[in-house]
Amino acid sequence: MALTNYIKKYAKEIKIELSPEKISDIDIYIREINAWSKKADLTSIKGDENILVNLFIDAFTLLPYIKDGKKLIDIGTGGGFPGLALKLFYRDTKATLVDSSSKKCVFLKHICDLLKFKDVEVLWTRAEELGRDPLYREKYDFACCRAVSSLSTIAELCIPFVRIGGTFIASKGKESEEIKEAEPVIGILGGKIERIEKVKYQFFSEEKNIIIISKINNTPEKYPRRNGLPQKRPIKI
Ligand code: SAH
Repeated sequence: MALTNYIKKYAKEIKIELSPEKISDIDIYIREINAWSKKADLTSIKGDENILVNLFIDAFTLLPYIKDGKKLIDIGTGGGFPGLALKLFYRDTKATLVDSSSKKCVFLKHICDLLKFKDVEVLWTRAEELGRDPLYREKYDFACCRAVSSLSTIAELCIPFVRIGGTFIASKGKESEEIKEAEPVIGILGGKIERIEKVKYQFFSEEKNIIIISKINNTPEKYPRRNGLPQKRPIKI
């Protein structure tokens, strides 16, 4: 089956509509991932269909929880997931993509040029540093994060960016222990778990949890802590 037909098939399965332009963009993006995978250390996922399902379709499961035309930041975006895939779908999103690997940032800029995306900022930096920058702190309607670290760690890296009234969407596996541990930590950071959506499709290797966290209070100034600490010593309560 041609890749474009796979794209149509999976979009139908998750009930989203993709214009011919979006299908073509995904097709081009997947080819570029394949071409750059080794030199930019993008993903260990091999094969067009696997990349489509585990990176793009997986990112699109977050679409119901965000809105177009808003400011979104993706922390530890890697090859652009979920942030750039969400931007591909919602064209009026103002997206900031953050990664501490320069090679990945070069790849992301290349994709944005190739697909002529506007309003995307690619930042080669660490979330701990950017989260203290007044130009970025509490400035976003949405933050998202996938496959970076435990929920307590990514909460410390992501919640500082979200404005009060905004949402942090964490894309996680099905570990419920991790969520229980993180709940009070999220509270300290100014967030509140609104709901946990279970996503189950037979084509995903495991069940997923989408954790929807609203920002209800300002994040205390001492967070995020210095580089590496959120990962090495997650906040414990
Ligand atoms: N979200 C992508 C990539 C996951 S791999 C996906 O789902 O495919 C984790 C990525 O997070 C790596 O690219 C790594 O460079 C980045 N990363 C880890 N800690 C970070 C930090 N503190 N600040 C910015 N990026 C970070």
